[in-house]
Amino acid sequence: KPRVSARLAAIAESATLAVDAKAKALKAAGRPVIGFGAGEPDFPTPEYVVEAAVAAAKDPASHHYSPAKGLPVLREAIAAKTLRDSGYEVSPDNVLVTNGGKQAVYQSFAAVLDPGDEVLLPAPYWTTYPEAISLAGGRAVEVFAGADQDYLVTVEQLEAARTDRTKVLLFNSPSNPTGSVYSPEQTEAIGRWALEHGIWVITDEIYEHLVYDGATFTAIQRAVPELADTTIVVNGVAKTYAMTGWRVGWMIGPTDVIKAATNLQSHLTSNVSNVSQHAAVAALTGDLSAVATMREAFDRRRRTMVEMLDAIDGMTVPTPRGAFYCYPSVEGVLGRTIRGRTPTTSVELAELILEEAEVAVVPGEAFGPSGYLRLSYALGDDDLAEGVGRIRELLA
Ligand code: PLP
Repeated sequence: KPRVSARLAAIAESATLAVDAKAKALKAAGRPVIGFGAGEPDFPTPEYVVEAAVAAAKDPASHHYSPAKGLPVLREAIAAKTLRDSGYEVSPDNVLVTNGGKQAVYQSFAAVLDPGDEVLLPAPYWTTYPEAISLAGGRAVEVFAGADQDYLVTVEQLEAARTDRTKVLLFNSPSNPTGSVYSPEQTEAIGRWALEHGIWVITDEIYEHLVYDGATFTAIQRAVPELADTTIVVNGVAKTYAMTGWRVGWMIGPTDVIKAATNLQSHLTSNVSNVSQHAAVAALTGDLSAVATMREAFDRRRRTMVEMLDAIDGMTVPTPRGAFYCYPSVEGVLGRTIRGRTPTTSVELAELILEEAEVAVVPGEAFGPSGYLRLSYALGDDDLAEGVGRIRELLA
């Protein structure tokens, strides 16, 4: 018998790991590596959030187990925040607080999938989705949208991929890795199509506050209220409040699903750290001025990066209007000989860029098909200009 279960042995090694390990090794050897790999804001958590956590840590009430589902005060804050930001009412009873949005992603799939159920997964997609889907017993069916359509899938493409086994549509807008944002009209059309065919929607709204160029975030359940009984929202404080290390996320869904997911979580992780939950209460009940300041910096960096990447021969860069990633197509670079090497995949190109320019980028293979690079612009302005400048020089 194999030592490691077939179920876990099937989890793919993240394609980001190879690049990341090499970048770290180079850095450790004293090389001036610039990293565009990180999926997190470079800012510290706002001070008032940290203060709330300090106060909570000093309160013995925080020192013991609390309800697996989350502190009532936090679930109320999440319900109020949903009304404020998404424009519809939910009961705190329909909120489950999780260890980051990542746990909410897995538990959402686990709550609704049976073996053989298919999930329509718009590609490029965030690395975790296909693994969470297969761990939950489902089958991811990729629906690809390229740079020519701003990485946004259409109802026609979804319909072409639909079968009798389709149970769920994964929806992520603004998107990691592409930074694309669905318009209110596109969101509604997709929501109506899901409703018509009785397809569940798992909507990952973690980048809701990071939109630029007048783009607006549209909650799919706001666009199509009748979806309430078959929609699960995934969200968290990580990206909006620079709180990736605090591990607070949540899922919102119909009563039966939230009950099932809570049962799972009660055996898996129980309650999220009480200190972190109180920090999240402060973040969610405060105003959005800290995120406005960070968004301004991201926006400035986004413009710089798009402009610089666009000037590189062979790259096609749809302007991202959300999150903090650029996702250029590098088809026009592959097959070209650069410093004696001829990369034919984005993994090979990312390796070349790391070795020759000492810049770390994530290859498209981590998010679906080859032929793309993901660059996060959540890093300082000077590093950003220096890093993209090095790539431009290398590929010139
Ligand atoms: N969803 C998306 C699309 C993400 O990019 C991330 C983080 O990278 C998450 C969810 C999960 O974030 P966390 O678990 O840190 O809350």
